[in-house]
Amino acid sequence: MAISFGFTISQTRVVNMDNCDFGKLHQLERITPSFKKCMNCGACTATCSAQQFVSFNIRKVKSLYTMGQLGGLDKELAKCMLCGKCTLVCPRGLNLRPIIMNMRKLLTTK
Ligand code: SF4
Ligand code: SF4
Repeated sequence: MAISFGFTISQTRVVNMDNCDFGKLHQLERITPSFKKCMNCGACTATCSAQQFVSFNIRKVKSLYTMGQLGGLDKELAKCMLCGKCTLVCPRGLNLRPIIMNMRKLLTTK
């Protein structure tokens, strides 16, 4: 009988960094330089208010944005309620609300 551990293994994913567009990342880092301080610890995701109601992983969104994988991120970021809880737990002191708002804005501009 198969044992359920309550989680599944993600599909393998390969990103060719040579084909990534880092333009939006550089724009975001110019507006909010603190974005560079993120160490991807995941504390923001663990405490996120929105994920109690919808499937949403802010750490994953940030990682995809950093790698220039921007498809569908605008819809994902719309799930954020801008409550600021993530900022309270971030060990690097990132204020994620302006970062999220700027990501939203940059994703809708050319
Ligand atoms: S808690 Fe802060 S350092 Fe950790 S992943 Fe989130 S933004 Fe990055
Ligand atoms: S501001 Fe957004 S990402 Fe941060 S805890 Fe609230 S809903 Fe989650």
